[in-house]
Amino acid sequence: MQKLETFPPSRRDYHREYMRKRRADPNFVRWAEKHPEVRKEIANRSYHKHKDDSGAKERRSRSQAKSRAKVKMEVFIHYGGDPPKCANCETDDVDVLTIDHIDGNGHQHRKEIGNKLGYLFYRWLRQNNFPPGYRVLCRNCNWLHYIGRI
Ligand SMILES: [Zn+2]
Repeated sequence: MQKLETFPPSRRDYHREYMRKRRADPNFVRWAEKHPEVRKEIANRSYHKHKDDSGAKERRSRSQAKSRAKVKMEVFIHYGGDPPKCANCETDDVDVLTIDHIDGNGHQHRKEIGNKLGYLFYRWLRQNNFPPGYRVLCRNCNWLHYIGRI
């Protein structure tokens, strides 16, 4: 199928309108409900057609990065305030902040939850409604905590 952007503006609008009407058409909806496998096939074909399209890939990875950054910020704000700060030295550079397990039993705990690192750990915290027992520390203070100086 021809790319939407390559249509002259007038035809682009026409095409967009046509697709909108088609999706709203009860006949189409009825047909689509009856034939989930055909719709799957269409979606599948479109996926394979576009998966190597670097533009789409880039857009996809950019939106994934965005949603990861969002999850990370939510977790840091929950445990470290808004804007998030290190609980010890108050550094607020998000790039050096980490989530610290207050009991210091991070290794054991991570084993329990399946050794989730980085993003997966942030996502786990959010999925579990931000369980207590964590705080935000910067990497320096995290290390000092680890060697028992704080
Ligand atoms: Zn610190």
